[in-house]
Order: sequence, then structure tokens, then C-alpha cells
Amino acid sequence: MPASRLILSRSKTHVSNDAQHCCGLAPVAAPRPSDVVSPRTREALLAIENAGALISWCGLSVEDDRVRIALLQMYAERGRAPAIVDLAIRVGLSASQLEATLTSLEVRDVIVRDNDTGRIVGAYPFTEAQTEHRVDLGAQTLNAMCAIDALGIGAMYDRDVRIRSTCRLCGTSIEIATLNRGRELAYWTPEMAIVWSGISYEHACAANSLCKVLAFFCSDEHLAAWRRQQANESPGFRLSMEEGLEAARAIFERSLKTGPSGAITT
Ligand SMILES: [Zn+2]
Repeated sequence: MPASRLILSRSKTHVSNDAQHCCGLAPVAAPRPSDVVSPRTREALLAIENAGALISWCGLSVEDDRVRIALLQMYAERGRAPAIVDLAIRVGLSASQLEATLTSLEVRDVIVRDNDTGRIVGAYPFTEAQTEHRVDLGAQTLNAMCAIDALGIGAMYDRDVRIRSTCRLCGTSIEIATLNRGRELAYWTPEMAIVWSGISYEHACAANSLCKVLAFFCSDEHLAAWRRQQANESPGFRLSMEEGLEAARAIFERSLKTGPSGAITT
């Protein structure tokens, strides 16, 4: 899940954009309450927060957030994670200077690094791993960590995307395209396809837990069949494709928009 300061109140009926509610540092990327109109979408977002998947992204320093944004921009430009030396050049630091920031971002589950080499292998919403979610962004095709991440990429980068994914149960192809710069759905096939926003967060790394239960299904029947196969019927929320986009926009739409002090810009 996302490198975003999604701020959610504990109320189940309101998503707050009060950045200070979080950790009070570098308040960026808070969703606007008006962005989330579906009660079910709010419940799904609250469940993600309550699972701890968003708390860890609170309170990035302005410097850490500058590096995070540069990394995500390079990711989109290249279609894959940049080498650390290239990222260091982009942000005007030496590789050793950059190390403390990368460690901080990794601890906060904003990026994922290879345990052996230290190479960056993921930065929400992207991953170097082959996932079932391929997203065409400009001239590049990238792997998204999960279904919600895939849906958020268009609004995040302010451009339309095409998503090619599969039903988690049967592998049927699911294709989604956006319009209005990632803010609406142009079409999705099959028409019965839906989003499952599951609840799981372990080991302080969403890539290994939560992202595995945020998936597309070709139909309600296949979601139900898949849940019956899971332990405890895999708790979570069934979202329409529109609700899935709404959740994704709440998390990602503003995550690349910061001012010089980390303040939100529009
Ligand atoms: Zn299916």
C-alpha cells in the first residue's frame, strides 16, 4: 500500500483532512473528505488505517518526503526503481548521505529494499516483483503492488492509465482504463469485476501482507469462492470498481503534491 499520509479519523463516518491529527510533520497527501462519498469506501479505508498500514507513513521529514517524491518520479520515468546512485544524483546527495533517508523510508514501509543488496525493489504503489497488476503509465508499464495501488496511479501522476490484471481466483483477464487524468473510469471488463479490500497487515510491511488481499475478482461469485478458501473467510470489504477507484484516489491522488515546507498544494 501507499506512500501516503492518509489521515483518517476514528469516526466511521468521516475521513478527516486534518493533517495535524497524524504526527504533525510534513503534512502532505491528506485526502479531502469530499473525495470519499461511499460509506463502504470509508469503512475499507478505516480498516486499512486500523490495521496499521498507514500509521507508519505519518511524520516523514520534509527531506525524507523530498526523496520519496523524487524516487516516485524516477520510477514512473523509467518504468522501474532507479539505482541508488542515480537517485542520489537526482536529489543532490551522495549515496552515503542518502542512506539514512532510505533507511528511514524503509522503516516506515514507504519503500522496499532487497535484503542482500540494499537495492530499491519497491516504492508504493510500484514493485519490481511480478504481480498480477500491470499498469500502463505513459510509455512505461509498471507492476502495482495491489489492486488499490493500481487504481490510484492515474490520479497520482495526473494522467490516464490502463490496468491489466486478473481475477485472483480464476485468472480471467480484467482490464480497466481511466479518463479525466485518472479520476474516473473509462471502462472496465468484465463488467461484473469488483475489488476486494481485505484486512491484513503483518511484519510492518504491507507488501507482504495487506497488498496480498487487495485484489480484483471477475465476479462476486469468484470473490465468495476465494474467501471460502481463506482462513477465517478473509475479512474485508467488497467494493465496486467505482468504490475501489474512490479509495485509491483518497490514498494516492495527493501523494506527489507537496510544497516547499511539505504543505499541501493544489
Ligand atoms: Zn474469476
